[in-house]
Amino acid sequence: MTHRILIVEDEPSIAELIAINLTHAGYEVEKALQTDIAIGMMREQLPSLLILDWMLPGKSGVQFAKELRANERTRSLPILMLTAKSEESDKVLGLDSGADDYVTKPFSPKELVARVRALLRRQTPVDDSGPLAIGPLKLDPVSHRVTAVLPNMEPQALALGPTEYRLLQFLMANPERVHSRGNLLDKVWGNEVYIEERTVDVHIKRLRAALSPADCDRYIETVRGSGYRITKIPTQT
Ligand code: CA
Repeated sequence: MTHRILIVEDEPSIAELIAINLTHAGYEVEKALQTDIAIGMMREQLPSLLILDWMLPGKSGVQFAKELRANERTRSLPILMLTAKSEESDKVLGLDSGADDYVTKPFSPKELVARVRALLRRQTPVDDSGPLAIGPLKLDPVSHRVTAVLPNMEPQALALGPTEYRLLQFLMANPERVHSRGNLLDKVWGNEVYIEERTVDVHIKRLRAALSPADCDRYIETVRGSGYRITKIPTQT
């Protein structure tokens, strides 16, 4: 299956540079100058991945990413954010808005293609090892569903982004053990040389936020100086 990638970028030269490189790498590419055009293009069929510029006329990329994450249909659409801002706080803000990864301008087309490839690969589950459960959390790799099953309550479906899902799947498959950020990057993100360890913290934060409606965020523990673990007996209540 050929992946279709939608580029939302108001600078035609940059959009064209990205398009040429992605096309060369074997992807189908569409371009939109701003978000309202992109919305129209996504109405019929969603792309495999969205490349979204931060600074756009009208609605910003950050705002658009937030809206896509709030919408059931586009919740798990992979988003790669383009930003001219290189401050660490801006990067974190970009990831907090719902982007799965970001590239800072000026970027190397080779790096961008590598990140697109990695992000698409992350869509495939870590493995197909049947349903997982820990505490009230259940993860079904067939339906990609995560639910919380609490006593005397209807099972509650939890909405996770693609990276958070993969992170949770890895933690649940390897419970009660502390995983360093480096190990998580290796196991969850794979061979992505461009990802910084700080990214793990951002996605753990997002994973906890996704689990918190069912009060399940406490099952993900931070082990100071070491990393993270999932446990069926959380120390904090
Ligand atoms: Ca721009």
